Amino acid sequence: MNPRIPKRYTLMIACTGRSPITLSFRPALVLTALAVVAAIPTIGLGKVFYNYTQRNISLTEENSALAEQAKEILEQVEVLEAQIGDLQQRAGMEDAADPPEQGQGDRPRSLLLPQSPRPGEPGLQSEANSFRGGLSPAVPPELMLQAAQAQIPSLLQQLQQRVQPALEKTLVREEARPHGMPLKGQGVAISSEFGLRRNPFGGGYELHQGLDFTAAYGTPIYATAPGRVVTAGWSQGGYGYHVIVDHGYGYRTLYAHMTKVEVTEGTKIERDRLVGYLGSTGRSSGPHLHYGVYYNGQPIDPKDHLD
Ligand SMILES: [Zn+2]
Repeated sequence: MNPRIPKRYTLMIACTGRSPITLSFRPALVLTALAVVAAIPTIGLGKVFYNYTQRNISLTEENSALAEQAKEILEQVEVLEAQIGDLQQRAGMEDAADPPEQGQGDRPRSLLLPQSPRPGEPGLQSEANSFRGGLSPAVPPELMLQAAQAQIPSLLQQLQQRVQPALEKTLVREEARPHGMPLKGQGVAISSEFGLRRNPFGGGYELHQGLDFTAAYGTPIYATAPGRVVTAGWSQGGYGYHVIVDHGYGYRTLYAHMTKVEVTEGTKIERDRLVGYLGSTGRSSGPHLHYGVYYNGQPIDPKDHLD
């Protein structure tokens, strides 16, 4: 059985000594009114919420663009750091052992943030560290950008003041290292290797302190690195007409048994400079070039320097 809903309520408020106030109403009307009143703030709040969401969407879009930009810059900074690291290695700079001279010297990887947090301030290092190995979305993009931009001057400073001069020295040193063939063209062959060999002029063994090349008599002979001619002329020791070039950084080369010498002592020469012609002077059993390479006074195998 359905409960009986009265069509109309009568509410009487009575006060002692006064006539009562009587309110008579229909429940359906009251419920409608209540629903309308309740709806007003809901509509308002909905509008506010909608605006907030829209603003948030546009802020999020802005933030992700900024984050993308920061990510790109940081990636470029990382590439730059890696390249500087390679250059440092090539320049023989020991990154870990070398104390920075310029305050913010050698350690770009520790310079992730514009500055370290002061005591009492919230530390940002952990966030900064998360830039590496995946950019954390929790890091504000502005901070990421700031960190990336802050690294660039120190990297440039490092490159210009430390890496570049070291690299220039390295290039000079590398340039001083003898390399390539002292004889050009076809018909050049190695006839005797570096090392112990049977003495071609008597019994027993001798240490052959260079490489012997055979080629046509009179073949031009070229210096294998720049340097200064320290000896040019006749040898009492069996090398005949020969030339010794000092290349610096401990390197010297010897070109022996020439038929003719084309440089004079004390002359500064470039790499590939003609120093003489292949012959068979001195202790020689036939036309050949004895080519010696010395490092800090010790003969080394020229074969390691032919390419
Ligand atoms: Zn020889």
